Amino acid sequence: MPGLRRRLILVFVLLVAVVAGPLAVAAPVASAPDTEQRRFWVKDTHRYSSPWYRGSHRRMINFGCTRAPYYAPDPRCVRQRGFHHGVDVAMRCGTPLYAAIPARVVRPRSAGALGAAYGAHAFRLRSAKRGRDIVIGHTRRVFVRPGDRVRPGQRIARASDAAAPDGCHLHFEVRPARGGYLSAVDPERLLRATRRD
Ligand SMILES: [Zn+2]
Repeated sequence: MPGLRRRLILVFVLLVAVVAGPLAVAAPVASAPDTEQRRFWVKDTHRYSSPWYRGSHRRMINFGCTRAPYYAPDPRCVRQRGFHHGVDVAMRCGTPLYAAIPARVVRPRSAGALGAAYGAHAFRLRSAKRGRDIVIGHTRRVFVRPGDRVRPGQRIARASDAAAPDGCHLHFEVRPARGGYLSAVDPERLLRATRRD
């Protein structure tokens, strides 16, 4: 019997090694920050904090003409480059996003009114005082509803990769109230990013 028990233990140990071995190798990769391997389309490698999100993160794409290949050639840009209408900030999937100004969540005229490129759960915040709309793109979990008033510091959504070719990030865009994407303006003033490294 002791011999049988030893053999059973040996079989068990081998099974554990076979099953758990690859997991042990895979686990650290899976839990590594998901922003490390992606492509950035700016030279700026600094991390920035902002009242709109938790933590400090790198820019992926700035507002304006960009080398990023996801946008149609734009007449405002040289060498057939496209125009990015917001700022993309790379962050881990699920990073909490907050309102940084008092605003109202806009009721969309139709489902997907912002366009599929922003993701199915993108939404617009309107500041009547500033006459501005802020588009929050690529969210999946949204904690506010159309018509809600939001206050500074309120959690509004989580960042995701919904319709985002380059991984989870916040697309932060500012337009004149009721404006289309072609009317988007430089969002830096409202993003209030602070360099952290
Ligand atoms: Zn973007």
